[in-house]
Amino acid sequence: MTSRTSTEELWERQKQTTVENHHCGEQRVVNMSAKFEVSERIKSLPPYLFAAVDSKKREAIGKGMDVIDLGVGDPVEPTPTHIIDQLCKSAYDRTNHRYPSYSGMMAFKEAVARWYRKRAGIDLDPKTQVITLIGAKEGIAHIPFALVNPGDKVLVPSPAYPVYRNSTILAGADPVIMPLLKDNGFLPDLGAIDSNTARKAKMMFLNYPNNPTGAVATLDFFHQVVEFARGYNIVVCHDAAYLELGLDGYCAPSFLEASGALEIAVEFYSLSKTYNMTGWRIGAAAGNADIIAALGAVKTNIDSGAFQAVQWAGVQALEGPQGCVEQQKRIYEQRRGLLLEALRSMGLQADPSQATCYLWCPVPHGFTSTQFAAELIERIGVVVTPGVGFGQYGEGFIRLSLTVETDRLKEAARRMKTIRF
Ligand SMILES: *Cc1c(COP(=O)(O)O)cnc(C)c1O
Repeated sequence: MTSRTSTEELWERQKQTTVENHHCGEQRVVNMSAKFEVSERIKSLPPYLFAAVDSKKREAIGKGMDVIDLGVGDPVEPTPTHIIDQLCKSAYDRTNHRYPSYSGMMAFKEAVARWYRKRAGIDLDPKTQVITLIGAKEGIAHIPFALVNPGDKVLVPSPAYPVYRNSTILAGADPVIMPLLKDNGFLPDLGAIDSNTARKAKMMFLNYPNNPTGAVATLDFFHQVVEFARGYNIVVCHDAAYLELGLDGYCAPSFLEASGALEIAVEFYSLSKTYNMTGWRIGAAAGNADIIAALGAVKTNIDSGAFQAVQWAGVQALEGPQGCVEQQKRIYEQRRGLLLEALRSMGLQADPSQATCYLWCPVPHGFTSTQFAAELIERIGVVVTPGVGFGQYGEGFIRLSLTVETDRLKEAARRMKTIRF
């Protein structure tokens, strides 16, 4: 790049060369300028699999079609007012204007620890067993840098949030896929992991309640994971982004509740989905103090912590009135019902999710997930996420998100009922 390139030009080039994948928050380089070569690290990331759906969507919009996007996992309802009020108040407090503590503001970490005590009956030391994150994704992306060496193996579920696999690759380690199959309730089969692989594995990523399948795990399963991980010296990184989105009264266990978990695990907690705070970038990791310290050592060299006013808003979210969460869950339950009915009318069989804001639905015979997603855009202007975008074992499924306005979702359901497979 020449030094004469203006900031505007650079920004324009960036816009041209990258595309935001709204389906799962991946940002991918699609057309890098030939003036320089990107790193092997970037080149080794798996191919972008949503291009076909993205272009079908653009095409439909271009034709003037009213497109309803059920592909995006980003709550449409606003953040509750009491949380916004706290941000405003804290933003005026000049003690929040300077660099925050790298490992997080004590008041926020204490609130997280109190939350774990109340919600899961676990005692955590906020000083050593909790760290503030700039969203759970930030911690998930950085943890391999804290724990693996090039060539190490990391157990990664498929289908899954793509960041587990990609952060493993960026850190130079090799992802080993654990298939999540419907027959096994979308849980990994620990017995199917060969002992040679398990011995070489340093880390395992897990996520329950699960995105994209909506599956949940029992505390008993977490006990089995702890046993397995202790046997092979594997660190378990549990992504609990949907812990508080249990539907029909279901209350998901925290991984840290499993006995022995604190010796080998960290859990990534996010306020994003629970309190409609995806834009705020606030979360936490909690668990084993040595793992938290290692993650902190990476972060100290990369970011300078989360804005303290946002952390105060996080305290308000965790400790303020929780009626907003109940209200949001009722909304998702209602929308889930509308979509399940529409899917059935189309001739598709989706199981109701017990948690999360997603439905995971098998595609009709004769279609790949990408073909079926394209078919839905073309025929009725409804965008869904092809399962293969979450990994090879997501093939054969689509993910439908409940995070659009109920009126729009009703319209999507109405259109879905006009076609049959
Ligand atoms: C949305 C999501 C996240 C991201 O959480 P942030 O706190 O917003 O970074 C992490 N994991 C899964 C599985 C998600 O769906």
